[in-house]
Amino acid sequence: MQDNSPRSFAERPVVAPATTQDALQAAPHLATAPPAGSDRRVVDAIREIVGPRGIVDGASARKVYECDGYTLEKSVPRLVVLPATTEETSRVVSVLAGAGIPFVPRGAGTGVSGGCLPLQSAVMIGTSRLRRIRSIDVEARTAEVEAGVVNLEVSRAVDAHGLYYAPDPSSQSACSIGGNVAENSGGPHTLKYGVTVNHVLALEVVLPDGRVIWLDREYDAPGYDLVGIFTGSEGTLGLVTAARVRLMRKPESVTTLLAVFPGVAQASRAVSAIIAAGIIPAALEMMDALVIEAVEAAYHFGFPAGAGAVLLIELDGIAAGLDALAARVHDCCTREGASEVKRAAGEEERALLWKSRKRAFGAMGRLAPAYCTQDGVVPRSRLPEIVAKIAEVASRYHLRIANLMHAGDGNIHPLVLYDEDVPGEVERVLAAGNEILTACIELGGSITGEHGIGIEKMALMPKSFTAPTLAAMEDIRTAFNPRGLCNPGKILPSSRTCVEVRRPRPRGGG
Ligand SMILES: Cc1cc2nc3c(=O)[nH]c(=O)nc-3n(C[C@H](O)[C@H](O)[C@H](O)COP(=O)(O)OP(=O)(O)OC[C@H]3O[C@@H](n4cnc5c(N)ncnc54)[C@H](O)[C@@H]3O)c2cc1C
Repeated sequence: MQDNSPRSFAERPVVAPATTQDALQAAPHLATAPPAGSDRRVVDAIREIVGPRGIVDGASARKVYECDGYTLEKSVPRLVVLPATTEETSRVVSVLAGAGIPFVPRGAGTGVSGGCLPLQSAVMIGTSRLRRIRSIDVEARTAEVEAGVVNLEVSRAVDAHGLYYAPDPSSQSACSIGGNVAENSGGPHTLKYGVTVNHVLALEVVLPDGRVIWLDREYDAPGYDLVGIFTGSEGTLGLVTAARVRLMRKPESVTTLLAVFPGVAQASRAVSAIIAAGIIPAALEMMDALVIEAVEAAYHFGFPAGAGAVLLIELDGIAAGLDALAARVHDCCTREGASEVKRAAGEEERALLWKSRKRAFGAMGRLAPAYCTQDGVVPRSRLPEIVAKIAEVASRYHLRIANLMHAGDGNIHPLVLYDEDVPGEVERVLAAGNEILTACIELGGSITGEHGIGIEKMALMPKSFTAPTLAAMEDIRTAFNPRGLCNPGKILPSSRTCVEVRRPRPRGGG
């Protein structure tokens, strides 16, 4: 698709009203705006904006939206609205703001921290119909895409031009660009290419009162970096309707190695050794024995039996230097105890290796009825310590914990296996996760690398930040979302949110 819309965001007309009063004037049928609680009139007003295809109000249909990938908490939205344009989104938000009804943005629902859980009886605004790739500028290497576009679709759309969109969450065949922006998502290639915020140039946002604004950070735009503030704000400052993203040129050459280790301790040391040797792989991923077992059982990729851990190491760049680099990585791994280091023979084998990594989450169902994905970060050099801590926690809580890691970033994903039918197991899962994340903080890391705070980790925020820092974050939220209507009860454990969130529930899925 060629660029057919060369205008910048800033040149576009503002389509949305500025205040609730303006909203009602702009939508005369709402002049007698329904008071909060008179749902029928609100539903009718919204139906008029989005049409029958844009509304989900049946009880069983709404139940589909009761949670995201974090299934320990559930709450059915009072209504699901699926606007098809920015203007519709803006008008819907104006109606809800006018009626004082909270709302929560939702992309594909692949989040794993309960970010789009509708609290306070919120209306859910889904972006699944905001699916246009508005323009592609091959020369400038940018694309302007609507929030509901699936991550992988962006790369597919520009593939013929030798370009791709770099942030590649393992969920990239399902998750949306709007969700990626809200979570500041990363992926296996974050080590070399950065996270979403490094690839977003501009955003189109519907503010919680319905106004549409365009935020542009290209060419060192002056003023505050509002794109930076919105990226990672988990839908608490407004609803992203479109983004202009940076596209990357595909590397000239890529090679992928698989190194097999007796255990995670040796594999962790190899990670540090590779980086210490001055090599920055495009990706450096670790899977432990339990993950390998699940992946093998599900897909028969042919990982060596009895492997304690494997590293998936991808190198990219100019073809000329790649063989030498691969040889140095090979050395680092064997020095740290790798029993085997294999280089993918061709594109097919390389794709197979990545398939094993990207499908690892799905394969976990082979090992247990449910699992809870944790997400924490430690300084890379402290990976061996956190790995030992996870093993100790698993044994003390009588749980099985599999480890999947964006190891090059120190980003760990302990997958805590459980069976909700075993009395007390959910509580042990939550307590174990809490201990692991607290250990991440103590080791100088963080309680999330990429999955966000949502509702899952709010209670840990005061352990991570001082009261004045949390207050500054609250001030930012209040500046954009003064009435707290947009995605209430998330990220910050304010007095207002604490009373709203029920956790943990005694039982749940994972
Ligand atoms: C199997 C699996 C693997 C995963 N791997 C990774 C990984 O490698 N890296 C990674 O970073 N994450 C990963 N995730 C987590 C998840 O896929 C990402 O957080 C993703 O960005 C969420 O996108 P989504 O469209 O599903 O958003 P949702 O789950 O729908 O929403 C997530 C949050 O974003 C908000 N939101 C959604 N759309 C908008 C919008 N348009 N405007 C404002 N706010 C919005 C929601 O309110 C919510 O708070 C994985 C998840 C799964 C299930």
